[in-house]
Amino acid sequence: MFDSKVLNPIILNELRKKISNFRNNDIKAQVFVPKDISSLQEFIREIYSAGQHFFPLGGGSNLLIGNAENDIFICDFALPKAINIKGNEVEISSNYNINVLLMKLLQHNLGGLEFLAGIPAHLGGIIKMNAGAYGHSISEFVKEVTIVDNVGKMRKLKAHELNFSYRNANIDGFIISAKLVLPNENHLSGKELITSYIENRREKQPLNYPNLGCFYKNPSKYSAGYLIDKCGLKGFCIGGACVSNKHANFIINKNDATFEDVQKLMQKIETDVFAKFKIKLEREIKVIGK
Ligand SMILES: Cc1cc2nc3c(=O)[nH]c(=O)nc-3n(C[C@H](O)[C@H](O)[C@H](O)COP(=O)(O)OP(=O)(O)OC[C@H]3O[C@@H](n4cnc5c(N)ncnc54)[C@H](O)[C@@H]3O)c2cc1C
Repeated sequence: MFDSKVLNPIILNELRKKISNFRNNDIKAQVFVPKDISSLQEFIREIYSAGQHFFPLGGGSNLLIGNAENDIFICDFALPKAINIKGNEVEISSNYNINVLLMKLLQHNLGGLEFLAGIPAHLGGIIKMNAGAYGHSISEFVKEVTIVDNVGKMRKLKAHELNFSYRNANIDGFIISAKLVLPNENHLSGKELITSYIENRREKQPLNYPNLGCFYKNPSKYSAGYLIDKCGLKGFCIGGACVSNKHANFIINKNDATFEDVQKLMQKIETDVFAKFKIKLEREIKVIGK
């Protein structure tokens, strides 16, 4: 247990749904929830002085967490939220839920990010993961991010310093806000785009069960979903964790899945795909704990 003079860890039951969209009940973690940027900085300085590391949490939509009692999680949701619009340059707090943000931007006739509609994530996590869909990714729009670095110092990083790559940005620290450059869009077409992307996701993704989106990155030649499907694994379950029948790259929490169920299912998927195609699937989700 990390002994902080700045923040108390929060009782996990209240937070389980916020820290992992997979919502397994066997998560063990100490989660800290700063309410302002100065206590975030002070807390990070404390962690640094103790020679420890921290793990930023956004929407938890890409995280599978098990027993991670030794990790120090910092949640973004109680931090202040602000949007500052200057023409088509927008500075946004990292803890904005992306869907709420899209609606706000729409009111100002700002578009471009509609491809992210329906992803249950926060802007900070979207940038760290360089999230993308339908041929676009957030890296196209980021001008600058402000972070609290690992020694508690506030720093601005320009887009070219972030080394964006497929589902990653080279950012070490806690993103607190980002400056995006967005095209002005016709209000109505933005709304229609958002609706059509959400409908498309509902049709193709198993959104009625807790999940973490695509578990695996797409190898260069085939999609991971195609490979998993061709191994006959659609609908295959271990305990309460199942490969979705709708989309084979989604593992769903169908019936009180445990961390171990998912670990075993991932091993089965990876072994079967390698045996059939000689392709080593690379995980897109982040697994924390044991
Ligand atoms: C239904 C569903 C659909 C999805 N569809 C897509 C999709 O189309 N495309 C896609 O790319 N992904 C998709 N995902 C995966 C996921 O939403 C993305 O990876 C997203 O970027 C994660 O954001 P988050 O806020 O939930 O981050 P989290 O899951 O909380 O964290 C993910 C990573 O980001 C880091 N992080 C989070 N916040 C910060 C911060 N403030 N500062 C620094 N680091 C931070 C964490 O430490 C962690 O390493 C989907 C997930 C779900 C559940």
